[in-house]
Amino acid sequence: MQTRVLVTGAGGFIGHHLVTDLKKAGFWVRGADLKHPEFTASDADEFVLADLRRWENALAATADVDHVYALAADMGGMGFISANHAQILRNNSLINIHTLDAARENAVKRYLYTSSACIYPEYRQREANVEPLKEEHAYPADPQDAYGWEKLVSERLCTHFREDFGMETRIVRFHNIFGPNGTWEGGREKAPAALCRKIAVAKLTGNPEIEMWGDGEQTRSFCYIDDCVKGIRLLMQSSYAEPLNLGQDRMVSINELAHIIAAIAGVRIQIRHVSGPQGVRGRNSDNTRLRQVLGWAPEISLEDGLQHTYEWIEQQVARRLEATAPSHAAVAG
Ligand code: NAD
Repeated sequence: MQTRVLVTGAGGFIGHHLVTDLKKAGFWVRGADLKHPEFTASDADEFVLADLRRWENALAATADVDHVYALAADMGGMGFISANHAQILRNNSLINIHTLDAARENAVKRYLYTSSACIYPEYRQREANVEPLKEEHAYPADPQDAYGWEKLVSERLCTHFREDFGMETRIVRFHNIFGPNGTWEGGREKAPAALCRKIAVAKLTGNPEIEMWGDGEQTRSFCYIDDCVKGIRLLMQSSYAEPLNLGQDRMVSINELAHIIAAIAGVRIQIRHVSGPQGVRGRNSDNTRLRQVLGWAPEISLEDGLQHTYEWIEQQVARRLEATAPSHAAVAG
């Protein structure tokens, strides 16, 4: 019989790509989200508009499915995460407690929770040239933001539901996922999308100056969406129930990231460093356990991933510039 799955957050960036992948693999898919995907229609067999902070909506969404991929979250880039602690902690706690509990009530067989590298303690991420983060580095806990604290508590909820109620849970910790069809403007976009937008504006308007928060020497690793979706699927199929990193382990500074994108765009840029939220100083994924558990690690290069992402964002920016001509102010900020 066809396996039935629910993807929460199916109107968002990763959820939308995951639905497409699950459909290609032959699953029956229900998507649930507050909104439909913004850029292309969902491939889901059924798409439910629902606020998963509410128990009755979570109960309906998780009915009659075998697997749940729990991606719904109130989230965004550093600007959003560092300025909305109460909202994020409240909303995401409600979403995750209700979705997990409803899945248990509906006897869901397997449940994958999407956590984040933001759970790792700040004291391990104070240097740009940071030691890559291993899964066991999560404790003693000291995440920088409420977003990370909530993710950590929801990880533990999944672990305890497995231990105490026998529910099969999987926990993945993403490290900066990027790609086309993600938020690229409006305040919730993350660094790769924001830089692609700014560099596309520089190219299309002929003004080479782009703004960057901080000195640009802060470091991260970035993982392309196709690798992310593949890793999610492999983890769900595996018998591994502890939290697992999913990201690239090539660390670059944000200045380097900007220059790679500018080379792809074929444009000269001048970076103006301004004050703004930067998150931790350095972060990288240790993929030792990922390789052991899945026999695989992300393989798409940063350059190839950025090529696809930049092309897509440049198209969005070009359309927006056309629509807002003669003023370019709306996308240039
Ligand atoms: P996204 O913001 O694009 O998608 C999240 C979706 O959740 C959105 O479409 C949003 O509308 C939906 N949502 C929010 N509140 C909801 C509610 N009350 N009820 C129903 N739906 C609701 O984010 P994404 O990048 O696709 O991230 C997916 C998951 O992966 C999230 O849990 C996120 O925290 C996690 N994550 C992402 C990254 C990354 O780099 N993108 C890194 C670490 C963790």
